[in-house]
Amino acid sequence: MKSAEIIAVGSELLTPQRVDTNSLYVTEQLNLLGVEVVRKQVIGDDRDRLTEAIRVAVDRSHIVVLIGGLGPTEDDVTRDAVAAALGRTLRLSLEQESVLIARFRQINRPMAKNNLRQAYLVEGAEALPNPHGTAPGQYMSTNRGALAMLPGPPREMKPMMKEQLLPRLRHVVPPSVIRVRNFRVTGIGESDLDTLIAPVYTKYTNPATTVLSAPGDLFVQLRATGSTEKEADALLREVGNPIAELLGEKVYSENADEPLEAVIGRLLRKQIATVSAAESCTGGLIAGRLTEQAGSSDFFLAGYVTYSDDQKTKVLNVPADVIAKHSAVSEAVATAMAEGARKLSGSTYAVSTTGYAGPTGGTDYDPVGTVYIGLAAPAKTEVVRARYGGDRYRTRALATQAALDLLRRRLFKA
Ligand code: AMP
Ligand code: MG
Repeated sequence: MKSAEIIAVGSELLTPQRVDTNSLYVTEQLNLLGVEVVRKQVIGDDRDRLTEAIRVAVDRSHIVVLIGGLGPTEDDVTRDAVAAALGRTLRLSLEQESVLIARFRQINRPMAKNNLRQAYLVEGAEALPNPHGTAPGQYMSTNRGALAMLPGPPREMKPMMKEQLLPRLRHVVPPSVIRVRNFRVTGIGESDLDTLIAPVYTKYTNPATTVLSAPGDLFVQLRATGSTEKEADALLREVGNPIAELLGEKVYSENADEPLEAVIGRLLRKQIATVSAAESCTGGLIAGRLTEQAGSSDFFLAGYVTYSDDQKTKVLNVPADVIAKHSAVSEAVATAMAEGARKLSGSTYAVSTTGYAGPTGGTDYDPVGTVYIGLAAPAKTEVVRARYGGDRYRTRALATQAALDLLRRRLFKA
């Protein structure tokens, strides 16, 4: 993969008032070509510093893009610095001189003498026309690839990047495509996940692998570059298939835009099945997640937030003696809550939660962070006991995710 670096030139970009935005656009356009931007710098209007930076950049990167410092004034030093760095001369281009003269005539302004600086090209450089301003850009080959100079004003830089520079770079950069494969994963922590899959992906730099994490929800992305779609897809299979195998059913979707509740919705619709929720410590978060998407009335029947012992009995028919014997936070109560919700709503499945979200409460056997998560299904009811560390917010979010995932795994099997 070809590498590029960007040098934004201008002392104003080193003040708190101005920010280099041009490099973002240039990066976006280079990425479209399959070129990776590996470095960018901001350098003030200083000829020597710039010369040194250019010298290093052309040695280590295939493509170097300089932005700014092409104006007519003494502080516009990009042309000089490029010539010095490459050991080339600056030459007045008679053609660019007449372009400049014509341009000033067109905008009906006298041309100050210093404007002629803009008609100088670095030896071996080709001028890039600038229909929106006076300073032309410049383009030249280097030992490793190419170097370009673009004007600073965004309205001049952007069209020049797209219409002049990109077509030239297409000849330098072998045709390439970028393809991605995503895994959305739950039921495993970030470091366990990495321990599991790093032995596979660290052997490859292409595809590049990134792991992003949110509480209870991980995202693995492979980005492959190839000269054709077929080649990039083959790389994604080569690395992605073993990863998929290692993660097994912890992968709930390969669609980056499909959260867990959307997977559940898709599976329930397909199976023409429905769900309800009986929640204590999650206080309605499960119902909230399940109803987040449009059309959830197709499969979501009811959510019961039964926080007190009394309401667990009154609403969900959890026997009072079961609560008295096992306590409200127990496997027996999680079972009775899920079965109660399933019966009351007539849903195919029902999930339940009861636990100690903290920071106070809990027992020796079931300390703060313990949550019992139930799933009542046609064949049987199952309950898992989870122990979460961390604060109340995190415990509730993780218990919600785990309850949804218990259902999702059952639906995968159905
Ligand atoms: P120059 O070509 O260096 O004379 O820059 C002209 C003007 O373009 C500057 O005053 C800024 O307003 C703008 N400009 C230059 N470089 C950048 C940059 N990297 N990002 C955003 N605006 C810039
Ligand atoms: Mg400037």
